[in-house]
Amino acid sequence: MSYAALTDEIATVNDLLNAASVLTWDSRTMMPQGGSATRGNQIATLMVLAQERLVSGNTRKALEKAEAETASLDSEDPKRAAVAAIGAAIAYHAKIPAELLRRKAELRTTAQTVWAKARAEKDFGMFSPYLEQTIALQREFAEAIGYAAHPYDALVALYEPGETAASLRGLFAKLREGIQPLLRAVQAAEDPPSEFLHREFPEELQRDFALKLAGKIGYDMNRGRLDKTVHPFEVSFTRNDVRITTKYLRDYLPPALFGTLHEAGHGIYEQNVDPELTRTVFATDLLGLYAVGGTSYGAHESQSRLYENHIGRSRGFWDLHFSSLQATFPEALAGITAEGFHRAVNRVRPGFIRIEADELTYDMHIMLRVELEIRLMEGSLAVRDLPEAWRAAIKADLGLEVPDDARGVLQDIHWSSGTVGSFSAYTIGNVMAAQLMQTMRSDKPEVAAATDQGDYAPLRGWLTEAVHRHGRRHSRDTLLQRATGRPLDPAPYLDYLNAKYRDIYRLPLPA
Ligand code: ZN
Repeated sequence: MSYAALTDEIATVNDLLNAASVLTWDSRTMMPQGGSATRGNQIATLMVLAQERLVSGNTRKALEKAEAETASLDSEDPKRAAVAAIGAAIAYHAKIPAELLRRKAELRTTAQTVWAKARAEKDFGMFSPYLEQTIALQREFAEAIGYAAHPYDALVALYEPGETAASLRGLFAKLREGIQPLLRAVQAAEDPPSEFLHREFPEELQRDFALKLAGKIGYDMNRGRLDKTVHPFEVSFTRNDVRITTKYLRDYLPPALFGTLHEAGHGIYEQNVDPELTRTVFATDLLGLYAVGGTSYGAHESQSRLYENHIGRSRGFWDLHFSSLQATFPEALAGITAEGFHRAVNRVRPGFIRIEADELTYDMHIMLRVELEIRLMEGSLAVRDLPEAWRAAIKADLGLEVPDDARGVLQDIHWSSGTVGSFSAYTIGNVMAAQLMQTMRSDKPEVAAATDQGDYAPLRGWLTEAVHRHGRRHSRDTLLQRATGRPLDPAPYLDYLNAKYRDIYRLPLPA
């Protein structure tokens, strides 16, 4: 019965964290601006209650008994695995001093306000002292948690368990080696015409079409909804209520289409977690105190990237669906072909802003941020030298001169909110998506054939079996090992990028 007592406690923790997420969703979609300060208190209160409940005497007592009760079970037994995961989460929180958490929360509130002002005024110097404090606190945090080789390892473990500063540097070196020559070849080639994407696209019609696409790929509207926001996101309050948001620009069509497919991909992951896992340790991140069913940030991103890029930005997808898009926007898309549309939405254009980057340059933005974070954490780069290091990296990777810090080092909210170590997830998601798709195409020709004909249910079924249904029960590399026969491997991603962009830019294949 102690196992049941323990899972009851964890169910309560789940409820509190899901409720906090509802408040967050509301604050980013519906809440009047005046509500922000008190809403911040409400969310913080729920998170503190969740953490207190997790590490409480009651939960610890139940854990001890449940450990004894399940000790004789096989180590792969779900009950024993659940007890072990809960025990690890409690031990993790026990290592973090309460006053450190308090200082982090206080700094975060001030740092975000200063960052927003510094960005508006393009003045890194204004934000610099707060970033120095942030890095110092992150080092303290890493020391409290502990790490084997590098303080960054303790941070990245929160988002991408198993990765370290060293493993990421190794992965990124291979990606750079593959992407850089392709990018240079693409830049030397002629750009496909894409001006028509900037014509007039009424918002209501964008919304209707985006919803149709999300439904087509398998996002379940009975357990979902689509709202409008400035920065699109997905959030779930158990698998039974998984919401996505998107944005509509009247004079630029791609964000609504591909943003919706992206968030719907995240949503499909959450909607297909095994119902048995609802309100358990495998449906929530007890270290980060966030209600999420996906096993890592990178694994989550693999599903959004897969639907956004491998499905949504593929030639086959628009061969099937362009006529319907054209019928929705007959004037704006008059005279455009499926091929022309596909080439336009895949146009490569190196730029300063990460969230506007195309598929080929996106990883460059990520890799430079991760490298700078690692150097800041180890102390080989001082915060005051960061803007210069940023400019040098953008120049080296993308050949661009950063005009000001707002379009440089100040563009992301992450560091001001005390998030260090999460950026790699985006690139890991790209790599994992390609690896899954390559295996699907070689091992499951019937799934590939259905996908190519516009029936996306078999693909969702295959991904559910390989990834979604397991929730947080298995690590990213365990899922990959089982589905593809090996852990994370950059080769399929580089093959995919080469095939795709050589086709779009009509480049010869490398010898
Ligand atoms: Zn995403």
